[in-house]
Amino acid sequence: MENRITQLFEIKYPIIQAGMIWCSGWELASAVSNAGGLGIIGSGSMYPQILQEHILKCKASTVKPFAVNVPLLYPDIDKHIKIILDEQVKIVFTSAGNPKTWISIFKDHGVKVVHVVSSSKFAKKAEDAGCDAVVAEGFEAGGHNGREETTTMVLIPLVKNAVHIPVIAAGGIATGSAMLAAFALGADGVQIGTRFAASIESSAHDAFKQKIISSEEGDTLLAMKKVVPVRMMRNKFFDEIQQAEDRGATADELKQILGRARAKKGMFEGDLDNGELEIGEVSAQVREIKPAAEIVEEIWQEFIKGKEKLAAM
Ligand code: NDP
Ligand code: NDP
Repeated sequence: MENRITQLFEIKYPIIQAGMIWCSGWELASAVSNAGGLGIIGSGSMYPQILQEHILKCKASTVKPFAVNVPLLYPDIDKHIKIILDEQVKIVFTSAGNPKTWISIFKDHGVKVVHVVSSSKFAKKAEDAGCDAVVAEGFEAGGHNGREETTTMVLIPLVKNAVHIPVIAAGGIATGSAMLAAFALGADGVQIGTRFAASIESSAHDAFKQKIISSEEGDTLLAMKKVVPVRMMRNKFFDEIQQAEDRGATADELKQILGRARAKKGMFEGDLDNGELEIGEVSAQVREIKPAAEIVEEIWQEFIKGKEKLAAM
């Protein structure tokens, strides 16, 4: 299949693996790219030198296109961007900030820029800034989330209506059927996080992967709206945050409870009680830890079969 997303990134399937802190290093990104999707290195948790190592290893492991996700609030962002340009990475996914600040430097170097948004207003801003595509990420998604709490089902048609550039749907998508639903709503591609966080090549701690595949409906919730809304798994840390929120804790008090490096503790070091386990709602549908290539192929086959089934209706 060819469409605007496969053409934009020069990939086989319009399936993109989300950049996820502590989960998507070079191993996952190169596995997804080798399987025909677009793999993304999540740079938000990487010190500059580590990011450079991961880019070099990714280049050594695949000849296919891959991207780097750059959360724009990263403290050493200028160092990250210099590395991305020096290493001639061709595609960047920006998130958590305004892409306008950095877009001209990327464009001057021929880098394709995709921005992650949670509303049609920000999608329009990204298009006006010169982005090549947007990821429209709904409320089901893990990690940082939009304040408006718009679900993927509502967000995709709104964003599609607001912009002319290709729209990549994200949030709650882990299967070929969900991909088909996103395409029915107007998406040109899908970005999938949670399903790949629980893959063999994900750099997440094995205890966290096991927790994902044994989780049930209702096990992820949104917390910390006063600071930055984050979807995470319920655990001891979540309960502490929720109790504080229930008694009316201020943003500063919540930040104090959060402390530093909570996500690393939970997702990378496997402390399931005290760590912050950022993951999407769709984890309740993920039941097995599989190689990334198998996941890509499974999603694609289910998408094709579902498309034929609907056409025959
Ligand atoms: P790699 O085996 O691919 O290591 C990549 C490179 O990072 C290696 O060359 C290694 O150098 C270097 N490195 C390792 N630890 C550090 C450190 N603390 N400070 C500076 N450089 C370091 O990947 P690994 O899975 O072993 O992880 C390497 C590092 O990358 C870890 O520190 C981890 O925190 C980070 N990481 C981050 C991910 C994320 O999503 N943010 C995902 C996976 C890993 P040397 O050859 O000297 O060992
Ligand atoms: P914290 O401030 O609590 O901790 C920073 C973490 O990032 C530490 O674990 C640290 O590793 C690591 N790190 C990597 N590079 C740097 C650096 N230059 N300076 C300081 N720390 C660094 O932040 P979070 O863990 O909550 O978030 C980390 C990053 O990930 C942020 O940039 C945030 O925007 C992004 N993020 C993106 C999300 C998404 O959905 N895309 C979701 C959540 C966060 P160490 O402990 O080894 O020092």
